[in-house]
Amino acid sequence: MTLFDKILNKEIPANIAFEDETVLAFHDISPQAPTHVLVIPKHKWMRFADFASADPTQIGDYIKAVARVAKELGLEENGYRVVFNNGRDGQQTVDYIHAHILGGRRLSWPPG
Ligand code: 5GP
Repeated sequence: MTLFDKILNKEIPANIAFEDETVLAFHDISPQAPTHVLVIPKHKWMRFADFASADPTQIGDYIKAVARVAKELGLEENGYRVVFNNGRDGQQTVDYIHAHILGGRRLSWPPG
């Protein structure tokens, strides 16, 4: 059971930005941009790599929801970044897949 399972189950509070039948989106506790929201699917995968063997319809529903959340957050006009940290070198710290949506300022590239 990860921290994000507990947030999904409402056992741990979070500042929820959006919820529907597919996803839960909540504000990151340590925001790295003016808007920093995490989007988790209600169907659990541990990491991005799991997409390789996942149902494309479920992946599609998830990604569509991420785009919808970014739009709801008002980020569409100026743009935003979607990040999936995967595994050790990707600095993934929670083993429940999550899309970071970052926006509200001009982000630098390349990442560190
Ligand atoms: P990762 O490093 O795994 O890609 O991202 C995990 C994210 O979860 C980090 O950006 C971190 O700030 C965020 N986080 C860690 N603990 C909590 C928490 O208790 N609540 C919320 N809302 N975010 C958290």
